[in-house]
Amino acid sequence: MQLGIKVLCAAATLVALPCFLAFTDPGHKAQFVLGGAMINAGYRLQDHHDEYDFHDGHDEHHITPESVWQEMLQQNRMAASVRSTFPRTPRHPLVAMVVCMDARIDTNELTGDTRKYYYVVRTAGSVLSEREMEMLELAVDNGVKVIVLTTHTDCAAERVANSDELRSRYPALSQAVHERGIRIRELLARPAIASRIRDGSLAVKLMDIDTATERLVPK
Ligand SMILES: [Zn+2]
Repeated sequence: MQLGIKVLCAAATLVALPCFLAFTDPGHKAQFVLGGAMINAGYRLQDHHDEYDFHDGHDEHHITPESVWQEMLQQNRMAASVRSTFPRTPRHPLVAMVVCMDARIDTNELTGDTRKYYYVVRTAGSVLSEREMEMLELAVDNGVKVIVLTTHTDCAAERVANSDELRSRYPALSQAVHERGIRIRELLARPAIASRIRDGSLAVKLMDIDTATERLVPK
């Protein structure tokens, strides 16, 4: 009798759980959160496997440009074979983000899955040139509703721009960092951008990223 009740409970759970996940709002949220947690769990599973991250047995002398390049090609072959098995979800970005090229910042960790709703522009020091501004305007033409212009703590490009010694070695980068504010004002003044901000169809946010936690903080 007790066994019968256990079997009935197990059967009810097997039916109820998929129904909960598939047909209820909390179920959908649970799937979304669980997916994010699984991605993070995947990163944590991979992070300590040094043999796959360009370090050949931790011996720096074994690392050559060719070994790094071959490792990268091998990683790409693996990733591309996964992608061909599981095709990409359709893209219709609503956010364009400008982020420094600093390797510590991972936009997937910053905002969750960026494959679908985000254009991501990465430049040294999050600087904008005429090219990036045109690209952002094109992104807005393609449906983007929010532009997020970020800087981040402990930025190497800012360190260069603020150092007398390094500034003379990297003059173009330093100048671009110092002119970042001017370029942002130019972006906001572009007619196609300004008119959309005025009519409420576009928002531009200036945020700082805490590099340690990847939390976005208003500037
Ligand atoms: Zn930086």
